[in-house]
Amino acid sequence: MTITKQKQINCCICNGLIPLEGTQESIDNGTAWANGNNASPVVEGGSCCDKCNAEVVMAARFGSNRERYIRFLQLERTVLEDMLAERDFHIQVCLEGKPHE
Ligand SMILES: [Zn+2]
Repeated sequence: MTITKQKQINCCICNGLIPLEGTQESIDNGTAWANGNNASPVVEGGSCCDKCNAEVVMAARFGSNRERYIRFLQLERTVLEDMLAERDFHIQVCLEGKPHE
């Protein structure tokens, strides 16, 4: 039995190898996902790695909201937790008509 490792492709943005995604069995039998992420609109029809998807493609997709998206990415976890706590407070007030004691 011959095991042929699935061919990896290069990211169309940074040119790094895109890791295969799947179980070891799927990697061994050549059915793992090898195409990374859709790079549109940065490169139409291209495939990119997770890092470029997060740093380049997602920011580009946000278009006029790009600055807002970058600020969101830069938020500290504690700030996000504070925002979630505030949201929970508003949910409580709206659904039960009273704040937490
Ligand atoms: Zn890349």
